[in-house]
Amino acid sequence: MPLGFPPLAVGCCRQTLVTPATAVVGADTCGSREGVCPVRCSDPNRGLESEGQRLSSLAFSLNNSLGRTETMPLEETALPGEPPLTVPIVIIGNGPSGICLSYVLSGYRPYLSPEAVHPNPILHSKLEEARHLSILDQDLEYLSEGLEGRSSNPVAVLFDTLLHPNVDFGYNYPSVLQWKLEQQHYIPHIVLGKGPPGGAWHAIDGSMLTISLGEWMELPGLKFKDWIAGKRRNKKCDRAMPEEIASYYKQYVKVMGLQRNFIENTYITSVSRLYRDQEEDENHENEFASAQELQIENESEWAALTKRNWEVCGYQKTTDGSHIPFCIFAENVALATGTFDSPARLEAEGEDLPFVHHSVRDLEGAISKGKLSGKVDPVLIVGAGLTAADAVLCAYNNNIPVIHVFRKKANDPSLIFKQLPKTLYPEYHKIYHMMCTQSHTVICTLHPVYTSFPEHRVLSFKSDMKCVLQSASGLKNVFKISMALVLIGSHPNLFFLKEQGQSIGHNPSRPITCKGNPVEINAYTYEATKEPNLFALGPLVGDNFIRFLKGGALAITRCLEMRQKKKKHAIVEGGGDGVA
Ligand SMILES: Cc1cc2nc3c(=O)[nH]c(=O)nc-3n(C[C@H](O)[C@H](O)[C@H](O)COP(=O)(O)OP(=O)(O)OC[C@H]3O[C@@H](n4cnc5c(N)ncnc54)[C@H](O)[C@@H]3O)c2cc1C
Repeated sequence: MPLGFPPLAVGCCRQTLVTPATAVVGADTCGSREGVCPVRCSDPNRGLESEGQRLSSLAFSLNNSLGRTETMPLEETALPGEPPLTVPIVIIGNGPSGICLSYVLSGYRPYLSPEAVHPNPILHSKLEEARHLSILDQDLEYLSEGLEGRSSNPVAVLFDTLLHPNVDFGYNYPSVLQWKLEQQHYIPHIVLGKGPPGGAWHAIDGSMLTISLGEWMELPGLKFKDWIAGKRRNKKCDRAMPEEIASYYKQYVKVMGLQRNFIENTYITSVSRLYRDQEEDENHENEFASAQELQIENESEWAALTKRNWEVCGYQKTTDGSHIPFCIFAENVALATGTFDSPARLEAEGEDLPFVHHSVRDLEGAISKGKLSGKVDPVLIVGAGLTAADAVLCAYNNNIPVIHVFRKKANDPSLIFKQLPKTLYPEYHKIYHMMCTQSHTVICTLHPVYTSFPEHRVLSFKSDMKCVLQSASGLKNVFKISMALVLIGSHPNLFFLKEQGQSIGHNPSRPITCKGNPVEINAYTYEATKEPNLFALGPLVGDNFIRFLKGGALAITRCLEMRQKKKKHAIVEGGGDGVA
């Protein structure tokens, strides 16, 4: 038997969390007596709700077990012969992608607002055709046909234009959607993440301003402007601070009542199929009917059903630092792990030396500890993106000399600074101006505050705090530095999948990346084309901006709803047993 949640037994409301040598958490979850558990009831919606309640209680009891393992009695409450509880969908990652998916799975459904007129007349007339239906019940391919936007995923472009019509043309039209909570559409799910809800935003340098306007990063149903009003003294700036965004996402989960589905401090270490066989590969259509719905009576039936399921394993960190291992069975898995977990490396000699860092936070830490005060050697900053620019800004504001190294020419048209309007992003334009005007070729010697080295690369770092730079022509320069920051991007970390998930990318011979090699998905379901019942959204499928990840959440929910309907229909057609 796998470690962890199973045996959360079907047909009984006693929840059991077993860990190998630690605690068992048992809790009566719905108050019903054994034998009259509502998961056995004949109303499929009631059944699902009850299952949802049990999953929520599971999340609740695991959350409650944090730091309490020592006081919990050691108890084995597995019920032999009972099939384990299987979650219809487990979401890995609790950033904006995971949160938004949880929102839609919870039954919040988008409709065209009664008064709304979309500025695109073709799209508007299509929306009018089925105004009474939720967008989730409509043909997404038809609605998104012909739309253009800054995502290569059509459903992402569709929902972006419904939420922010014509925003890329400088308009500020209100969303044409209204969201209704329809609890009968709730799909039980669990969201697992390393930290608090908000994902990468809890790790992003808190003192900078975001690139996007605050409202572009809001999630449906809670206006960022309304939420921030009263929290901020300077209400003029439309750009937000990362810490405000992180706090907004955390709050969002509470306000929308999603908390019961979230389990924090969880680290997923493996996601694998329970069983694999020929039949699965040939006929991989997912029909997520739970064991409860199908009234599975014995283990062999259960084994047949779970053939296609996933086993999601990991551990939860407790407040005392210990790890509680667990395994969950899931019919579907959604990858919402973002792309910021593994900083990109130069692979230069000496990159592991202690003075070489890969996060702006390390610069801030060194500054706050006073390590860079007074007359110090320059800080080396590698990279020409916005994170490197943030580091330059941070050093500059603290009077720390900077050597800034990047591979492109300073006037390269692909540099991100060229795409940012000067009036909105004055701080980045200031850095860009320095990159162009304070180059080592212009000033010949090191500038006391900042010197750029365009078209250079780091050849090596030495243990005596020196770094060797090399120009495009092969010329070498050696500098004594006080710290190095390599800020050249980051990669997703899908180590928990077989082959680190490479097999699900567009190019299976290369690692998954947001821009070059995202997960290959069906454009209208976000299911991995090479791995049935595995979904991905957000930067993993190329949607790095929060504006665009909402489309993934809607497409996945729609896909699961349709499969569920199909399954229920098949049970009824097949002379069902009164379950559906
Ligand atoms: C410095 C910076 C500035 C940005 N500015 C903007 C901006 O202005 N506007 C904008 O739209 N976007 C911006 N972005 C991009 C934005 O942060 C991402 O698009 C967004 O956070 C993606 O959300 P996500 O939920 O998919 O992933 P994330 O926010 O990255 O969340 C994924 C979560 O999953 C967790 N996770 C990963 N692996 C595991 C595992 N094995 N087990 C458990 N949990 C796991 C991660 O730790 C993380 O907490 C910025 C990004 C950075 C780094």
